[in-house]
Amino acid sequence: MKLVCIGRNYRAHAAELGNAVPGEPVIFLKPSTALVPPGEPIPLPPFSREVHHEVEVVVAIGKRCRNVSARDAMDYVEGLTIGLDLTARDVQEELKRKGLPWEKAKAYDGSAVVAQRRIGVGLVDLEKGVDFRLLRNGAVVQQGRTNDMVHPIPDLIAYASKYMTLEPGDLLFTGTPEGVGPLAPGDKLDAFLGEEHLLSISVAD
Ligand code: MG
Repeated sequence: MKLVCIGRNYRAHAAELGNAVPGEPVIFLKPSTALVPPGEPIPLPPFSREVHHEVEVVVAIGKRCRNVSARDAMDYVEGLTIGLDLTARDVQEELKRKGLPWEKAKAYDGSAVVAQRRIGVGLVDLEKGVDFRLLRNGAVVQQGRTNDMVHPIPDLIAYASKYMTLEPGDLLFTGTPEGVGPLAPGDKLDAFLGEEHLLSISVAD
């Protein structure tokens, strides 16, 4: 399985990092080895001094799809959940300066967290939009709404599937809203999709 991630999909977040909003989605990948195993804390890697949280709505792909239309895209979705696209920001800034790919900053072991529970697509009103948020040590640090995505979920699935086959078990990270920031050892993180408390995890001491 693979993690397909979208960058710069919320205007205010692109702006906080000094990036323009691209006309087409920005795609990058994380390998399955990026996932923090369930029940384990988030590791802070020795090669970074600045690992940022990015809370994102995650789409769990349920059926193999290739080159699907945005109209049909939701038929291939098993459910939605919440996840963290953890980013070694100092490493990423250096790679960006050099015009190099982001993998060292985005795809390292422990750079992704996904809640175990999925919310069925039928239970989510994407037309109306769904709120999500991240709390760090009990205080809200990021909140977003799916309606604020530059490229909505069906468009992202259609776009990604033009370039790579999406398979059952693949996870699509749909981009983070503003408020990203550094993690410290021992932090407690809690994430909500709508009113569902789907994720609770600590950062390793
Ligand atoms: Mg992200």
